[in-house]
Amino acid sequence: MKGQYKDNLVLDIEGRAIPLRVRRNARARRLILRIDGERDGVVVTLPHRVPVEEGLDLAHSKAAWIVRQLDRLAPRIPFADGSVVPFLGDDHRIRFDAAGRRPVRRGAGEIVVTGRPEHLARRLTDWLKGEAKRLIAPLAHAKAETLGRSPAAITPRDTRSRWGSCSANGKLSFSWRLIMAPEHILDYVVAHEVAHLVEKNHGPRFWDLVADMTGDVETARAWLNAYGARLHRYG
Ligand SMILES: [Zn+2]
Repeated sequence: MKGQYKDNLVLDIEGRAIPLRVRRNARARRLILRIDGERDGVVVTLPHRVPVEEGLDLAHSKAAWIVRQLDRLAPRIPFADGSVVPFLGDDHRIRFDAAGRRPVRRGAGEIVVTGRPEHLARRLTDWLKGEAKRLIAPLAHAKAETLGRSPAAITPRDTRSRWGSCSANGKLSFSWRLIMAPEHILDYVVAHEVAHLVEKNHGPRFWDLVADMTGDVETARAWLNAYGARLHRYG
């Protein structure tokens, strides 16, 4: 059964409690172990009929690797007063201002969040989502127009596995976290998903379309590979 999983397991590695999720995926050809950046833990994917115990054995046998990978993750940066977060690639310090008028405001090198302190993280997240949509929507429409297409919808999401997607019926979605990346990265991801309005696959014609709509594709892809995971460490 696809998608069936155990969510709340804990792997004990030398006294360190590491969150472990086990998923089952009938299409998986072998046991897969990967780092779960969302929980600072691990995910084991089991192919059809492989018992959970085998997955646990694999995780235990890779204990040293798991610890090394987890220690290598970028530190988590909470959305809190004083934290520094990137906005379009530029660092901004979050400043809490109980007396401010607008809920969230971006100034020179800072983002000011008002209201009750316990709502700061949610307010800032909502604002970033809104900013992402405000920037991405006109960009996607303009690029789609050059292809004679029009996206059916544009939605910000918080998916960890991909930066954007294009559904069969032409709905585009994007990770709102792209608003933290430099603008040319965001531009590339938008071009990529818009190109899928025409070409569903990743063949040479697809990449030609992407290249026509954005700057240096290879640089953007390399950036996402190197730094993309970091965007998930904020908030
Ligand atoms: Zn694609």
